[in-house]
Amino acid sequence: MKIAVVPGSFDPVTLGHLDIIKRTSQIFDLVYVSILKNGNKGGHALFTVPERMELLQRVTGDIKNVRLDSFDGLLINYAKSKNACVIVKGLRAVTDFEYEFQMALINNKLDPEIETMFMMTNGKYSYLSSSIVKEVARYNASLNDLVPDEIMPDIYNKLNSIKED
Ligand code: ADP
Repeated sequence: MKIAVVPGSFDPVTLGHLDIIKRTSQIFDLVYVSILKNGNKGGHALFTVPERMELLQRVTGDIKNVRLDSFDGLLINYAKSKNACVIVKGLRAVTDFEYEFQMALINNKLDPEIETMFMMTNGKYSYLSSSIVKEVARYNASLNDLVPDEIMPDIYNKLNSIKED
């Protein structure tokens, strides 16, 4: 059984993430989509980990071989604990490359049995990130073609609830 891990912040999940998740699920027997608990690149998270998981559940619930999970600590240790043979990362642009290259090399040093594979973004989503989604939603602009329809209201509602605080 070939198991892959697709890690990320997913704050919130975008159509770019979903594209990578779907394509990965067609190649591997089992895919863990795993939310990094202590991540978010130093910034503040919009959604809590359970909320991010609920949004992911709504949009990946129909993909039979996808399991949702969360983790903290070293990704490579987590991947090993799941018996994964591969970590899949999406690559959007050259800007993603340098950091991911470094992470892949250190992970390979820590555990050479687990490979990192890069999946090229779908051209339609090469500009898309969770930060861009939050920025667009903050100004009440349309999230069409950025996130799945069924989670759009959650994003606007969350941002509005924060404004009221
Ligand atoms: P973001 O940068 O959007 O906050 P995450 O940290 O949640 O993303 O990213 C999780 C994984 O998904 C990373 O491997 C990232 O490169 C990938 N990813 C994010 N957005 C896209 C996209 N639009 N196309 C391809 N891969 C993506």
